Amino acid sequence: MATLAIAAEIPQNAASKSCRFCGARLERTFVDLGMSPLCETYPSVAELNRGEMFYPLHVFVCEKCFLVQLGEFETPDKIFSEYLYFSSYSDSWLKHCEDYTAKVIGRFGLAPSSFVVEVASNDGYLLQYFVKNGIPALGIEPAANVAKVAEEKGVPTLNRFFGTQLAIELAASGKTADLIVGNNVLAQVPDLNDFVEGLRLLLKPHGVLTLEFPSLLKLIELNEFDTIYHEHFSYFSLLATINILRAHGLKIFDVEELPTHGGSLRVYAARVEDRSHALQPSVETQLQLERRSGMDTVAAYEGFARRVKETKFALLDFLLSAAKKGKTVVGYGAPGKSATLLHYCGIGRDLIQYTVDRSPHKQGRVLPGTHIPIFHPDRIRETRPDFVIILPWNLKDEIMQQLQFIREWGGCFVVPIPKVLVS
Ligand SMILES: [Zn+2]
Repeated sequence: MATLAIAAEIPQNAASKSCRFCGARLERTFVDLGMSPLCETYPSVAELNRGEMFYPLHVFVCEKCFLVQLGEFETPDKIFSEYLYFSSYSDSWLKHCEDYTAKVIGRFGLAPSSFVVEVASNDGYLLQYFVKNGIPALGIEPAANVAKVAEEKGVPTLNRFFGTQLAIELAASGKTADLIVGNNVLAQVPDLNDFVEGLRLLLKPHGVLTLEFPSLLKLIELNEFDTIYHEHFSYFSLLATINILRAHGLKIFDVEELPTHGGSLRVYAARVEDRSHALQPSVETQLQLERRSGMDTVAAYEGFARRVKETKFALLDFLLSAAKKGKTVVGYGAPGKSATLLHYCGIGRDLIQYTVDRSPHKQGRVLPGTHIPIFHPDRIRETRPDFVIILPWNLKDEIMQQLQFIREWGGCFVVPIPKVLVS
């Protein structure tokens, strides 16, 4: 009788591919978060009885260029054609954008004769401030529903994906930019080289490019594993970003650290041949921080997976003990990152009864996969839960202030990241 051979081990990186920037083979795991659904697809009540696709969240680090990245499991048009993330629903984010606008208008002398382009301009949350200042602006936004909201606000918006092709078309019609803005878009680009080449083509000879993206150094230091999800294909250090831009004829001349999204970097870049911007010391300072943490070797990337697992166990400990004591736990917020946190930790409706969100586009729907229902924030006052777990922990100060009233019945806040904190 024939016996079947039993595999001793299933190779977890069997489907690994090559680095989306430099082409080197991806062999080193940064962290493997298991399977998750697409995190910005919030099923409606009518969709509750349908199945949902789950995709692997297995992150690799390229040992040649140190770009941390996820394989591409879904076509971008499927992820981004309808998008429920409207940037304008956070007060602190809008303030951040208004401050940025005032700063770059002053620093680079932008005037009504200038032209500003934002790539992934969402609902016009940022460009509205340029329009208010009389500076012509154009948004590029692939999600049709979000682009429509921007147009209604008076922000001209092209409903397209950005890349070399669109940059060539815009440049051919004389629409090159004095300022290109890319906020939290670089991570979402599957064809990174095509995208960055497009940025250079769209930039005027003395134009400036600013990019904001979550800092990989902060992601590692602050254990922000839930910011890893399918919409984010890549995770950037300054080190890796300098190399990627340089390969496409762009140089970074300044960098700022920002508190947004759990710690972000804003880089300022120009064409390599443009000598009008002096290299600021901030660039070397940030590079030193990254080198000190070992980000130019594999050292910085080891140990992250172990810390992530410890966070999962601590959060489950808290939720199980609350459940056993008959305490009620509800969520606040329905950000994309909650999908990763909840799925990786195996948390469902038995541990978190519901969540709430200020965005009316999410209310009445459920979180992907777990089907935890999303209500209007007033639900918290009505049901008086013992604990409110803040899912968009990066906005915790703002949210705790809004929800001070839970103290009236002895309610407590739970912040899950960097480690579980009950207050
Ligand atoms: Zn690489």
